[in-house]
Amino acid sequence: MPLEAAPLEWEASLWQTAIAQLVQTLPHARIDAGVAERLSHPEHAVLVSVPIRLDSGETRVFTAYRVQHSRVLGPTKGGVRYDPRVSLGECAALAMWMTWKCALLRLPYGGAKGGIRCDPRQLSRGELERLTRRYTAELAGVIGPQVDIPAPDMATDEQTMAWMMDTYSMQVGHVTPEVVTGKPISVGGSVFRHEATGAGVVMVVARACERLGIDLAASRCVVQGFGKVGSVAALELAGRGATVVGVGDHTGGVFAENGLDLSELHGWALEHGSLEGFSGTARITNAELLELPCDVLVLAALENQVTGANASRVQARIVAEGANGPTTVEADAVLGERGILVLPDVLANAGGVTVSYFEWVQDLGRFFWGRDEIRRRLQEKMADAFDRVWELSESRGLSLRSAALVVAIREVAAALDARGLFP
Ligand code: NAD
Repeated sequence: MPLEAAPLEWEASLWQTAIAQLVQTLPHARIDAGVAERLSHPEHAVLVSVPIRLDSGETRVFTAYRVQHSRVLGPTKGGVRYDPRVSLGECAALAMWMTWKCALLRLPYGGAKGGIRCDPRQLSRGELERLTRRYTAELAGVIGPQVDIPAPDMATDEQTMAWMMDTYSMQVGHVTPEVVTGKPISVGGSVFRHEATGAGVVMVVARACERLGIDLAASRCVVQGFGKVGSVAALELAGRGATVVGVGDHTGGVFAENGLDLSELHGWALEHGSLEGFSGTARITNAELLELPCDVLVLAALENQVTGANASRVQARIVAEGANGPTTVEADAVLGERGILVLPDVLANAGGVTVSYFEWVQDLGRFFWGRDEIRRRLQEKMADAFDRVWELSESRGLSLRSAALVVAIREVAAALDARGLFP
């Protein structure tokens, strides 16, 4: 098999989006120029080559990354994704957004992100385990409970985190559940972590509906992405009485004018790994899914889904970013002009990292909380962040994205200012 050249380039598109957002926000945030300069660079970026033995006996080397954007507020925190498009630039952008998200939610973390450039659907469970363990071993010097705490992201899950936790624990010689979050409950995971991101998206959607006078229980909703975030968001929306008329994944979408049977769809997706082959309801393309008339469109798949090309055809009143970076800068402007409220990723999908923080705190204290307590604490955190963003947005006439970034950047800038520049 020909060796793939290591992709050293930044693959700039998502990074450019992150930088463009920062540049747009800085005049409103009114922070020191030196602090702004520091925030526009990731502090650490690591590229590792991860060799594994495939089931066939061949050796294959995968390229992987971990980027730590800012360590001023605490250890860094962020997901690990397995995807053929993973690049340094993508990880850097996602790490920067994690910094803003943690600061916005007032969590004592900076942002990080990592990933392995691979097609996880082409790898067996054994190959994925060897890949995960070798990746963790390669990163052992740069992750740790007080340094950088990974979590699941696209195509990684509780099992991935259990392998990471086990590999790290074996290397340091003692059980260290607090090195990752999103673990199975049997090895120190938290109840409600699995549902946290999707549930948090819907908590924010519900608060926005209240402010806009939309009755969520009477609303029509569409959800793009039917994985960990999207499936839970859809179920939570339906649980609040909303009618979910469309959902989609990488195999396309399904639509039912009077509402989908979500538990049937969820069961199908769990059993078959996707919505492919699901019958009994109309099939639509992903492009059509995004353009369905609805009150709430939840984007919970991947980045760059609403762009300059299709933003004018989105027919939602609220777009909630369950995914990171699903709306391009151009699309953001178009949606704003059309009066469509965008609930930005740093706010809307922050439920995941918030309950990850609760998991880490529980692991450090070796003392575990109940489901109701976690849901209540998450609701408090999401509502508090939403209100701070909403108020700034109203008082300064900013979009919610700009307001969220201003609030977050000011938190990080205050810490950088107070700590000063070493040496
Ligand atoms: P996942 O792998 O569980 O699900 C991803 C979903 O997106 C799947 O249903 C997949 O089929 C679908 N998808 C992939 N490519 C697609 C395409 N081209 N068109 C339409 N659908 C496509 O991942 P996840 O954890 O649900 O993450 C989804 C997004 O949410 C990512 O952007 C991730 O960074 C973000 N996010 C996740 C969490 C978390 O706790 N899992 C937290 C914050 C943000």
